Amino acid sequence: MRKIYKRCYDLALLLYPEVDIRCQSKHFSFVTHRNSIVAIGVNNSKKTHPIANRYGYIFNGIHSELAALIDYGINKPWDPRLTLINIRIMAYDKRTIGLSQPCDKCMKLLSDFGVRRVVFSDFEMRFHELCINIV
Ligand SMILES: [Zn+2]
Repeated sequence: MRKIYKRCYDLALLLYPEVDIRCQSKHFSFVTHRNSIVAIGVNNSKKTHPIANRYGYIFNGIHSELAALIDYGINKPWDPRLTLINIRIMAYDKRTIGLSQPCDKCMKLLSDFGVRRVVFSDFEMRFHELCINIV
């Protein structure tokens, strides 16, 4: 596993809220530059945001991608050297990661924001890179 993926994974485990046992999994997004993490987002279905509303998310919940962009600075121009890394941590065994491919609404959001490179985890601890075309 690449150093930055391992770093994100370790941090996701550390941040995983032990108390929220109702969730089957937690979705994390990390804004990264080389081997450092510059912003973090965690999904939150109990909170909402005007941007979530605009993009039509179900129940207007905040997906980790949006949370990471808010943490990064929603009005700050996106640096094209940055990569957004998604990791899903499963509740039943926190050492296990799940599929964290961004949903269609997040893909649109990320594209509009200028994000070009997204990496997401799968169930087999592998990471996949997506390139987003800017229109
Ligand atoms: Zn999403």
